[in-house]
Amino acid sequence: MKIRVDQIPAEGKTYHLRVREKKANQYFSLLKDSDFSALSDLTGTVNVWVQDGMIIVEGDLKVDLRLTCSRCVSHFRYPVSQHFRSIYAPFYETCQEEELQLKPYDMDVSIYNGEELDLDDVLYEQVFLGIPAQALCSSECKGLCPICGANLNEGPCRCRVSTSHSSFEALKCLKLKG
Ligand SMILES: [Zn+2]
Ligand SMILES: [Zn+2]
Repeated sequence: MKIRVDQIPAEGKTYHLRVREKKANQYFSLLKDSDFSALSDLTGTVNVWVQDGMIIVEGDLKVDLRLTCSRCVSHFRYPVSQHFRSIYAPFYETCQEEELQLKPYDMDVSIYNGEELDLDDVLYEQVFLGIPAQALCSSECKGLCPICGANLNEGPCRCRVSTSHSSFEALKCLKLKG
């Protein structure tokens, strides 16, 4: 949904957004190296207002994503639920860098073209921010065997060295030292 900056009322406006799963995935699939997809529609409620020519967007985003575990490479469902506040500065104003630095904002400022802002893009941006740098299917994920590549979450493989044995050995040494 695109909104024109001159149509945002002075008191701000609330928008209820929904980007269909299919549309979101069409967008995500165009990105390089994206190894995730949406499993649900993107939904959000945002309050939008204008301050000193900047568009401020504050609200919530919800979406279920399909991520790839960085340890065992299996896919898993990851619910994103984000509260966010973003600032969009008009393109021309960022040229006056000095002036921008004087503004009392300590958060990231994105750019809009000075006339309109696509709220779908705002949601997409929040999806990226909601993806963990190291995605894990579970904090206890055992990963893959470095030798045979078996998924160790499904059970031990044949080449697995018994860790209970080695930790028992370590314990024995500790006792001897004491
Ligand atoms: Zn995993
Ligand atoms: Zn193995």
